[in-house]
Amino acid sequence: MKVGCVREIKNNEFRVGMTPDNVKSYVNAGHEVYIEKDAGVGSGFMTDEYVAAGAVILDTAKEVWDTVEMMIKVKEPLKEEYQYFHKDLILYTYLHLAADRELMDAMLEAGVKGVAYETLIERDRSIPLLAPMSQIAGRLSIQEGAKYLEKPFGGSGVLLAGVPGTPKANVVILGAGTVGTNACKVAVGMGANVTIIDISLSRLAYLDDIFGARIQTLMSTDANIENAVAQADLVIGSVLIPGKAAPKLMKKAYLKNMRPGSVVVDVAVDQGGCCETTKVTYHDDPTFVVDGVVHYCVGNMPGAVPRTSTIALTNATLKYGLQIAGSGLEDACRKNDVLYSAINTYEGEITCKNVADSFGLPH
Ligand code: NAD
Repeated sequence: MKVGCVREIKNNEFRVGMTPDNVKSYVNAGHEVYIEKDAGVGSGFMTDEYVAAGAVILDTAKEVWDTVEMMIKVKEPLKEEYQYFHKDLILYTYLHLAADRELMDAMLEAGVKGVAYETLIERDRSIPLLAPMSQIAGRLSIQEGAKYLEKPFGGSGVLLAGVPGTPKANVVILGAGTVGTNACKVAVGMGANVTIIDISLSRLAYLDDIFGARIQTLMSTDANIENAVAQADLVIGSVLIPGKAAPKLMKKAYLKNMRPGSVVVDVAVDQGGCCETTKVTYHDDPTFVVDGVVHYCVGNMPGAVPRTSTIALTNATLKYGLQIAGSGLEDACRKNDVLYSAINTYEGEITCKNVADSFGLPH
């Protein structure tokens, strides 16, 4: 199959859909790979690395779109890219169609076969193409929190680990899923006092087994959250109720109990956030202050570390991409029925229930 990728054109998006190592895997499997010139530069992958891996470099995005049978991207296509859609094109990327009627209509009209990373659900109910971004956001949340606790960044001036003879910082993590567990790992590694809160006792038991006496686990109740937050230097918001807005576990009133310059990193901002005071921020101006507490609420945290994010994402996408390229989409689905869950549009039809439901349309 002819596969390829273009440079992402979304504002501040530096990830890329294929690394040179990915190219080698596709070429070794007998495929032709077409890459737009400088597509990987934002992630530190140079054009000569793609050439060495066996890719054909094309000067413009249009040439790549016109050549390939499967386009492998990171973000959903923007309006400028709709013109390149063509019948039978397999578009393998994050799509988030439920939030983008215009894109969905453009894909349906052109007959694009849309394979969405975010809806690929494995047999154990895991979402393997979302997990790497949650891992990154979780780990990064502590790094960002530590930075904004520094005085020059508006923080209270607390070092997470402290030093002998000083108190360690208290880190409170709301939600013990993928983001929360990865935040926990880094916070413990940096030597902070960590409290992690979830409504799932089995999840708390799992973390208790892993981290033992190095963390405090607590059931998610209003009282536990209010008490823990009052002592916190850094709060991480990482709850998720799939398909729903995040519950507002952290009330505005709690902020007054926190030391001025304490920090809230609300990773769950993409689902509305789990703090009453959350509003979306961007990498170029990531924080704001409410009642003396610094809020960091960036919706695409992995974008801050595109090199790691690209490698992590493509580690996960490569396997399914090779299956699709190897047999064609239809046969690949017959061989691995998990792939059906990722198909959102097919020959002018919506094939994903959640996407159809969100527009009140049949599927
Ligand atoms: P997950 O499903 O792995 O974990 C969510 C956890 O929240 C679960 O353990 C669940 O039991 C817990 N939870 C649900 N309701 C709760 C409650 N009332 N009290 C306490 N815990 C509760 O999800 P995840 O992959 O860790 O993602 C968490 C959030 O982070 C999602 O909204 C996700 O979209 C978001 N995210 C944001 C970014 C970003 O850049 N901002 C990046 C990746 C993920």
